[in-house]
Amino acid sequence: MKATSNRGLCVVVVVIGLLAVSPVVYGQGGNFDNVTITTTQLDDNLYYLQGQGGQIGVLAGPDGVLMVDTQFAPLTDRIVAAIRDISTEPIRFALNTHEHGDHSGGNANLAAMGVTVMTRDELRAALAGSANPPARLPMVTFGGPVTFHMNGEIARAIPIAVAHTNGDTMVYFEHADVLMTGDFYRSEGYPNIAIQNGGSLKGMLAGLGRVIGNSGPNTRILPGHGPIVDRDAVRAHRDMMLVLMGQVQERLDQGMTEDQIVAAGLTNAFDSQVANPGTTNERFIRQLVQELS
Ligand SMILES: [Zn+2]
Repeated sequence: MKATSNRGLCVVVVVIGLLAVSPVVYGQGGNFDNVTITTTQLDDNLYYLQGQGGQIGVLAGPDGVLMVDTQFAPLTDRIVAAIRDISTEPIRFALNTHEHGDHSGGNANLAAMGVTVMTRDELRAALAGSANPPARLPMVTFGGPVTFHMNGEIARAIPIAVAHTNGDTMVYFEHADVLMTGDFYRSEGYPNIAIQNGGSLKGMLAGLGRVIGNSGPNTRILPGHGPIVDRDAVRAHRDMMLVLMGQVQERLDQGMTEDQIVAAGLTNAFDSQVANPGTTNERFIRQLVQELS
């Protein structure tokens, strides 16, 4: 553990709680004045940062720094300062697990500092086509797996098709045995299929299968949001999705409306095992109805 303060942790907990219930997280809005960045060491050269939004992976050492996700643009200075506490080597690469602003918002700031930002082709296209395109778009795009050989680590960026969005990537750090998933797996709140960003139920389930298949019993899985878990937690999460999917399908077959299915309280049985559910239960049921109709 490095540079961690209790106050910072409290801020992070409160903020993550808000994110679980707030649909505003994709944009750059909000007040970031009180956000502090906390750093946690995962392995010799691997860390993750928490502030507001998705968790940032930092692989640091003599070969320079690789970042996975960049959080909101107003936080870039604080994030870079936190990285400088880890390493003074140049930040060479930043890649995104997906397009949402709480994961990619800092891209343009980093690009202006000379960082090479790399994303899926779909992610770059989504940023370019958004209502407020960033000042700088990713310079390097990829359609298949990309492997980084840096700082004694092998980091594999693995595209996950149409899951949380249409441009998801998970990153596996072989030496550390750490897998970063982005938001197609979250260890708090109910799943979020961002259908408006090209996500799909089928792709989410397939992506969770990839996580489980790529993980051993000791693999630490670092989600886009929420605490680190192991593959058993991801299995349980997928099982919950399958049960709810079946229950929603059954009610659709009986002719129930979306609101009737929401009112049926299907998620009540799972609320005790989902951290910070907020209103994500309703959101997820509505997404299931949309996907299964
Ligand atoms: Zn997201």
